[in-house]
Amino acid sequence: MPVMSSDDFSLHREDCGEFDDGMPISSFPDEVSSIEDLDCECWSEFGSLTEVS
Ligand SMILES: [Zn+2]
Repeated sequence: MPVMSSDDFSLHREDCGEFDDGMPISSFPDEVSSIEDLDCECWSEFGSLTEVS
């Protein structure tokens, strides 16, 4: 499940160490249309959004 950082609203995986506090979200926001829209390296192992569950 993606987590939205409370600090800058960036999106991360739950086990990412790049955010201090965040809120789990059930699905990606509409503005996220591809894996490239997720800036953090914690997503780099995924090739596309459909692989993220
Ligand atoms: Zn991250």
